[in-house]
Amino acid sequence: MQLSKRNLYRFPWSGNDNPIGWLEVTDKCNTYCRGCYRINGMQGHKSLEQIKDEVALLKKWRNCDNISIAGGEPLIHPDILEIIAYIRSLKMKPLILTNGIRLENDRPFLMELKKAGVIGFTFHIDSEQNRPHWKGKTEFELFELRQHFADMVHSVGGLFASFGMTVYPGNLDFVPEMVKWANRNVDRVHGLVLIGFRNAAMEGDYDYYADGKPIAPETSYFTDNTAESYLTSTDVYNKIKEHFPHYETSAYMGGSQTHDKLTWLVSAQLGTKHKMYGSVGAKVMELFQTIHHLRYGTYVIYSPSNKIPKIAFLLGMFDKGVRATSGKFWREVVRRPTELFKPIYVQSIGIIQGPDLMEDGRVDMCESCPDMTVWDGKLVHSCRMDEWRLYGSYLVAQPREAANGKVISPESIPVAEPAETIGK
Ligand code: SF4
Repeated sequence: MQLSKRNLYRFPWSGNDNPIGWLEVTDKCNTYCRGCYRINGMQGHKSLEQIKDEVALLKKWRNCDNISIAGGEPLIHPDILEIIAYIRSLKMKPLILTNGIRLENDRPFLMELKKAGVIGFTFHIDSEQNRPHWKGKTEFELFELRQHFADMVHSVGGLFASFGMTVYPGNLDFVPEMVKWANRNVDRVHGLVLIGFRNAAMEGDYDYYADGKPIAPETSYFTDNTAESYLTSTDVYNKIKEHFPHYETSAYMGGSQTHDKLTWLVSAQLGTKHKMYGSVGAKVMELFQTIHHLRYGTYVIYSPSNKIPKIAFLLGMFDKGVRATSGKFWREVVRRPTELFKPIYVQSIGIIQGPDLMEDGRVDMCESCPDMTVWDGKLVHSCRMDEWRLYGSYLVAQPREAANGKVISPESIPVAEPAETIGK
């Protein structure tokens, strides 16, 4: 399949009806990742009261199905069990985005989190993390740790486990190894999240303004060296496609400023412990979102169950991806009848291409950003929340005169307006 919007399903998510609400409960962390976009320890743990207000706002104005609990490191927040229980009480799915350090040797804590109502975890593990006891380990050596968490969560049961990594040019060639490992563990690894590394040029072609005042950006993602900040979601997709014929993406999100950018690429692979057979197509992705919205009133991104009944192959009647997958499966059953009795699993791969600073100073975000979070009663992009924490507004980049010989006045640059205070 040629990677083009025409062959993919555009997620119907919007700012007002989005399955994800991003909740940062603390900016404290117990490690430091090179690609982190949050300044650690600037404000510490949020109070339970503030957190409840933010969750309620996300429920009321964004119609979320799930709350992604992030940080800093959410598992070091003293009220994490109450936070999970509160989200659950509002009939939303609490998912924890964690580096796992707090959980590594603490199965009883995992049991407590499950009892409180957590639906699962996205473990962020990569070699750029300064992780205690794992410093200097290669991506390959970190499989031991990834396997530990996958087995631990699987042994408790009923929980979602996915694994995230920041993709730099330096570890792009490692991505197929991540997919191979995940496929081998299709019964206990529900998905992968691959995020292209991004930072912004401190020096060079832009001046930066906050509320019209010139500033020198101090957020963690402004650097002198942006040499590594160019991978696109298509680059990561092509790397996987090179190695895995069964892999195909079927849904996307575009850019907020440009028409030809694919910021989110999502696939749902199907297979057994023995073999991966294919990926669902755009029609089934659409059906899944539509049925969930009709049935529960929300769109969806996380489903705790990763088992698919074989009758689902009937969806091949109108979905090319499922039809091809079903054909491969039944041909394998002829060769290996025991496959008939093996469960079929679904495993997602989400590729995210973060914001891009454009020549004219606009910032191309992910359209209908799924990871919007709450700042001071407003919804803002979580990847740029430090601009609000430091300057009380999004930064505006103005191309320097030298850059293109033309003087561009700040007010003439069409910049995406920050999310208005909805309903106030
Ligand atoms: S725009 Fe939204 S989805 Fe995209 S990287 Fe930023 S926070 Fe994440």
